[in-house]
Amino acid sequence: MSQPAHLEQTIAEPMEFAGVGLHSGAPVTMRLLPAPAGSGIVFRRTDLDNFEIPAVGRNVAKVSYATSLMRQGVLISTTEHLLSALIGMGVDNVIVELDNLELPILDGSSLPYVGAILSVGIRSQRRRRESIRVLRPVEVREGNKFIGVYPGSGYRIDYIIDFPAPIGWQHASVDLATETYGAFIAPARTFGYKADEQRLRNMGLIRGASPENAIVLTPDGPENGPLRFIDECVRHKVLDLIGDLALAGRRIEGHVVAERAGHAMHTALVSRLMKDRSAWELARVPVAEESAEGSEAAHLPAAAMANPALIGA
Ligand SMILES: [Zn+2]
Repeated sequence: MSQPAHLEQTIAEPMEFAGVGLHSGAPVTMRLLPAPAGSGIVFRRTDLDNFEIPAVGRNVAKVSYATSLMRQGVLISTTEHLLSALIGMGVDNVIVELDNLELPILDGSSLPYVGAILSVGIRSQRRRRESIRVLRPVEVREGNKFIGVYPGSGYRIDYIIDFPAPIGWQHASVDLATETYGAFIAPARTFGYKADEQRLRNMGLIRGASPENAIVLTPDGPENGPLRFIDECVRHKVLDLIGDLALAGRRIEGHVVAERAGHAMHTALVSRLMKDRSAWELARVPVAEESAEGSEAAHLPAAAMANPALIGA
């Protein structure tokens, strides 16, 4: 998104998605409903008496390959792509109903969510929006993995990955104040190595994975190409990061730097940040300059995929 709105927002109409969970392979139907100002993002398991789990850091379950929320033993799994789209598109309040434990993987990106949000529209609400303004650096390091958040205006992310061939070293630098989430980040799909597939399946993971919802990598390149961007993998890591940091409860105002991180590092940063009350403050989002919001719809995500100038940008 461009400059964020100064009022909270919800979706104008309900939206529905159906598919399978990436890890469980379980079929799921998911409905997003408009929610009142101040409610945040709340998941609801319709198969378990409408049990609710707010999308906030204190409900994060132990994570490895995906981010999951748990409350009183009830699980909601693989929340990151939807939360990323909601933060990226500026949706603060929504109820997410699902009839199984894992969100649908859809095409492996957050583009289907962005497309649906653009088609139903966004509604402004009567409550000033607040962001989490970072005041002091907060860092998490584990071996050669690192993630930190620093004071800075807007929401800037620098992400470095270093994977075996064919990905190699990739760096993405994204400023969500000036670049559109829908064009630069949302289309980037999840990815995995063909060589890891059997091991992950033996662990009970990626039961729903298919060439339709993940980039399958061999040492020679993607098996199901072409890629949507030459640096699609690192862009997907940025997508995941935005979704995981959404568990702070509000959009971050600051600069995030991540190196070789993943879901566990992302959510560790959220808990460390939330615990250190001297490191951030809630800050009202200033009233945007004229037309700053209206520019969003002009950047349809499909245009980014069709526009070769954006490839590798
Ligand atoms: Zn992902």
